[in-house]
Amino acid sequence: MKRNRKVKIVATLGPASSDENMIEKLFLAGVDVFRINMSHADHDTMRSLVKIIRNIEKKQGRPIGILADLQGPKLRVGEFAKGKVDLVVGQTFTLDNKDIPGDNTRVYLPHKEIFDAVKPGERLLIDDGKLQLLAQKCTHESIECKVVAGNHISDRKGVSLPDTLLGVGAMTEKDHKDLLAVLEQPIDWIALSFIQRPEDIAEARKISKGKVAILSKIEKPQAVRRINEIVDLSDAVMVARGDLGVEMPLEAVPGIQMDIIKLCRRAGKPVVVATQMLESMITAPVPTRAEVSDVATAVYEGADAIMLSAESAAGAYPEEAVRTMDKIACKIERDSNYEPMIDAQHPAPEPTGADAISLAARQIAETLNLSAIVAYTASGATGIRASRERPIPSIIALSPITETARRLALVWGLHCVVTEDAHNLDDMVERAAAIALREGYSVPGDRIIVTAGVPLGTPGATNMLRIAYVAKEDGKRR
Ligand code: PGA
Ligand code: MN
Repeated sequence: MKRNRKVKIVATLGPASSDENMIEKLFLAGVDVFRINMSHADHDTMRSLVKIIRNIEKKQGRPIGILADLQGPKLRVGEFAKGKVDLVVGQTFTLDNKDIPGDNTRVYLPHKEIFDAVKPGERLLIDDGKLQLLAQKCTHESIECKVVAGNHISDRKGVSLPDTLLGVGAMTEKDHKDLLAVLEQPIDWIALSFIQRPEDIAEARKISKGKVAILSKIEKPQAVRRINEIVDLSDAVMVARGDLGVEMPLEAVPGIQMDIIKLCRRAGKPVVVATQMLESMITAPVPTRAEVSDVATAVYEGADAIMLSAESAAGAYPEEAVRTMDKIACKIERDSNYEPMIDAQHPAPEPTGADAISLAARQIAETLNLSAIVAYTASGATGIRASRERPIPSIIALSPITETARRLALVWGLHCVVTEDAHNLDDMVERAAAIALREGYSVPGDRIIVTAGVPLGTPGATNMLRIAYVAKEDGKRR
């Protein structure tokens, strides 16, 4: 099972994609990392999804990444008796503290801090701003609003308060509970929502103790302002355009996306572009031209991964959405503009053995037109540095650690294979060649380049580079 693209696909699971059959279809259509949205999935659902994904992983023999997205201090409305209600502009609609199903006059708002903070004249933006409310009468129990724009609201939609100052921390009580449940599962990444400061990452790191890697979602202006420090402290970053576009002017988002991708590529931190990439495919089997261009832009910018949200979680065409993303990415990566655009942002190596070797591997592989760069990586760090070079030849990341291979599923260009540590130098080269052959990257007679750390099995010591022949099926040179 080999993908024909470097950029990775993250797909969110939900009601449209919660049984094994559909999730397997999504994997086969191109998903590299599955995202479980803890805003919607309860712990039993989360555990059942993880079990299904790990079954598929075993059956398909390919490492699959799992990202659990913590809700963070995201404010959401409660539920409706009928799931969804229609509203009309000009009508009154109230958010209150009564924990009972909503109708077209009111809904429960399960965050009492909002009632104390919102003042008349302030805006409440629901569902990424699709519904705009203006607060009129505020008490400690309810906020009576006028509908300014939009025509419906449904269960658990997000609420943004661009005019209101709220004193909330980064991890809520729910996030704590969710994180503890996540840490008991074979989950590779957690996403932190609505972080505002670099300190917000420290808390999650303290609890997770390295068991999961941490992805910071950039969706608030406060986080954009401190992006350098946040990227430094994170293992990966997401350009979370949904909430970013609510909290900041929409027209600022494309530039922020480009800046964050550049910064992450320079730092060697995987970066995901998320939200509304193929939004119209929630209800249609084909995307709009504008959506195709949007996916293409993220690919040209060299993002590590592109993400589907409701398209795969709750849409009518989850499999088509993944196929469409895959098809666009494959085509763009073969476009003649692609390499020059990727190269234009090529970051200089940092003065480390891993970077020097990764740069050299890329240059040699491209000069000699080798079929693959095979990188031994225990922790995954060398795999990420190899990817940071954005080489034209494929990169195969070999790790003895299953968790490393799963984590690297998010990273640009890495085809990860779990294999035991090589016993000696000959074994290392033969194993690399045999895997390149078996995985469909090389044919007998090809040459590959192998990078590793010697002595073998010493983490963080990539210091060796070797050009090797791919021989017969057994990988032995004749
Ligand atoms: P969400 O995050 O889907 O959890 O809101 C992504 C975004 O805001 O873009
Ligand atoms: Mn968000």
